Amino acid sequence: MHELSICASIVDSVLEELKNKKIAPNKLRKCGIVAGALRQIVPEFLKDAYKMTTNGTGLEDSEIVIEIAALTADCPDCGWSGELKELNYLCPACDSVLKLNNGTELYLSDLEYIT
Ligand SMILES: [Zn+2]
Repeated sequence: MHELSICASIVDSVLEELKNKKIAPNKLRKCGIVAGALRQIVPEFLKDAYKMTTNGTGLEDSEIVIEIAALTADCPDCGWSGELKELNYLCPACDSVLKLNNGTELYLSDLEYIT
């Protein structure tokens, strides 16, 4: 389950961010992340992993909110452009190989804390 290692780096970034803002970890309530569809993250697993990873860090009272970013692609041949519902490398209009625009991003989008 790769969610644990993903979570470890998320928790590191969150702690770093809070430290920069001089906010105590136990003030955090929500940690929002955006994950690309190609990361194949299972939100339930990530939530469990977050609970395990935050244990002992002061972030125990916060919850992680995961938004899966839509996967979009362009076709270099016919100009088709759109969102892919599932991973598919062939253009739905002309069957050429698509150029994927995103899918592997992973970043903190939002931190909510009490002051
Ligand atoms: Zn095409």
